[in-house]
Amino acid sequence: MQRLHDAGFASYLVGGGVRDALLGLSPKDFDVATNASPEEVKSLFPRNSRIIGRRFRLVHVLFGREMIEVATFRADHASGAGGEVADGGRIVRDNVFGSIEDDAFRRDFTVNALYYNIADDSIVDFVGAMADLEQRLFRLIGEPRQRCEEDPVRVLRAARLSAKLDFFIDEPTLDAMHEVAPELRSVPPARLFEEVLKLFQGGYALKSFERLRELDLLCYLFPATDARLKNQAENELEILHAALHNTDVRIAEGKPVTPYYLLAFMLWGDIFEIAQAAMKQGQSPSESLWQASDRVLPSQLRVTSIPKRFSGPMREIWLMQPQLELYVGKRALSLLESRRFRAAYDFLCLRARFDSDLQECADWWTEVQELDPEDQPDFCENKQSVRKYWGTEGRNKTKGRKRRKRRRSPKKTKTAGDGASSMTKTGDNGG
Ligand code: ATP
Ligand code: MG
Repeated sequence: MQRLHDAGFASYLVGGGVRDALLGLSPKDFDVATNASPEEVKSLFPRNSRIIGRRFRLVHVLFGREMIEVATFRADHASGAGGEVADGGRIVRDNVFGSIEDDAFRRDFTVNALYYNIADDSIVDFVGAMADLEQRLFRLIGEPRQRCEEDPVRVLRAARLSAKLDFFIDEPTLDAMHEVAPELRSVPPARLFEEVLKLFQGGYALKSFERLRELDLLCYLFPATDARLKNQAENELEILHAALHNTDVRIAEGKPVTPYYLLAFMLWGDIFEIAQAAMKQGQSPSESLWQASDRVLPSQLRVTSIPKRFSGPMREIWLMQPQLELYVGKRALSLLESRRFRAAYDFLCLRARFDSDLQECADWWTEVQELDPEDQPDFCENKQSVRKYWGTEGRNKTKGRKRRKRRRSPKKTKTAGDGASSMTKTGDNGG
């Protein structure tokens, strides 16, 4: 900001960075707004910046691992030659440069349109944002219905940010959100997935999830899960709450989080039910789970995309559940070495918190991990588990071997057996 200012340009911090700082929260990222063109910004940071984006042309300026987004003031999409609005009022392109005031009015919510001016250390407020901050009110700028229609994702942003900030949503904004929410069905799955990540990886996943449910928006992101939760599924809600809370705790502790763990929980209710039904038809646990994920994942992908690097591990976590519940002999040891062991084990532990029949099994896995590696084989050899959900298939060694042999047809290797070796082949196959 200082460099822009020294070069004679307007230089403001804007958006969530100002909002969060004023509220005493630590901002997640910083956005800078300026009257310098993207090319002028780039020339001020020749080594550490690049121009990106087509719909919004901005400059990313890198400082070590930090990235600051620098955007030139933009005007309303309808007021100049660079903008384009599709049928239904949606913005397709808005690259019209404008004044700082224009820039404020095309932002989504009042509290997101505050500017901090480095030139005189002042806050600039065109939209009554300071009053809203004080009243903890979340309000769309302009005519709410029109602003939601321009970009239905704003409906989700309102839910997420009002949850994060613990703000009330202004009544007219709320009405518009309800009216426009069904249009989320026509938002591209990839954009919705980006929002899913922001909802659940920002450190306030549980609050976001609850706000989505209060506003009846979960159905636009996870329709099957939403239907289950509306349909009783008390237990599933508890597990989901715990998984969301876990994610928040990990983020608060500065630990890494991966979306596939939470997403695996999000769809587990359906996966489990379908797999159990397939088992009743005589299929093996892994066949049942493959079948379930072949049904559940594609329907979910029509709503939010899930990149294969996440859907693959999700499937692996699911497939490992019956394997972990059947811990005998060498089989158990090889599971410990599986690259998805840790996630699948965490998954099992969380399930066990709400299903006392799984507790013994989860404890066993905890114990074996604490052993000296050389003591592990003995510990495993003498153990016989009884699994609750996946039948007793595989416990009898002879029978297990026979089954594996019969299924060794080339096409089906990935479904073969319950052994950990099959896990490596499932990698990135999901979705
Ligand atoms: P956080 O970073 O805490 O999730 P944020 O408000 O900073 O919240 P960003 O996605 O980082 O959200 O966006 C930065 C700013 O860009 C917003 O504060 C807002 O002014 C503007 N903005 C983002 N998305 C939209 C949108 N869909 N419509 C209008 N303005 C938007
Ligand atoms: Mg931000």
